[in-house]
Amino acid sequence: MERSIRSYSPKDTHKIGRRIGTKAQSGDVLLLVGDLGAGKTTLTQGILWGLGGTEYARSPTFVLVNEYPARLTLYHMDLYRLNSIEEIEDLGLDDYLYGNDLCVVEWADKAPGYFPVNHAVVQLEVIDDQTRRVTVSSETAHLDRLVMAIAGGADE
Ligand code: ADP
Ligand code: MG
Repeated sequence: MERSIRSYSPKDTHKIGRRIGTKAQSGDVLLLVGDLGAGKTTLTQGILWGLGGTEYARSPTFVLVNEYPARLTLYHMDLYRLNSIEEIEDLGLDDYLYGNDLCVVEWADKAPGYFPVNHAVVQLEVIDDQTRRVTVSSETAHLDRLVMAIAGGADE
C-alpha cells in the first residue's frame, strides 16, 4: 500500500510525523529516504512528538543512533556518513532493528536489503522551497496503519 501527501511547511511535516508516531507500534521500522534538506529530521521530530516524547530531535550524524524516551523508545539513526554496507553492518544495529521499540532510519537507502523485511518506507521529495511530497509505502499489511496515518490533509 502507498499513499502520498503534500506538506507546505515544516509544521505540516511535523503534523504528518505526529500522525505516524501516534499509530506506531512495538517493533516498527521506518526507513526515511530523500535528499539533504528534504525533511527527514523534521518528520522524525513529529514522530517523536506523536509518540508523546518531548525532546528536540536532531540528526544523529555523529553518534549514529539517538535514543529518545517516549511511549515507545525512539531510536533515530542516520546513515549519511557511512559509505558501505559493511560499515553499516559493523554498527550492530540489529538489537534496535529487531527490538520492541520504534526505529527511524535516515538515509536508509544507503543499505538496501539490510533492514528487516517488515518496514515502511517514507520518501520525501522537494517540490519547491516550502513544499514536499511525502510518500509512505509498505509491502506488509501489518504496516498499512502507518501508510494510512498520513491522510488528513490535502491528498494527491
Ligand atoms: P533532512 O533531515 O532530510 O536533511 P531536515 O528536516 O533536517 O532535512 O531539513 C529540512 C529543511 O527544509 C529545514 O530547513 C526546513 O525548514 C525546510 N523545509 C521547508 N519546507 C519544509 C517542509 N514542507 N517540510 C519539511 N521541511 C521543510
Ligand atoms: Mg536529517
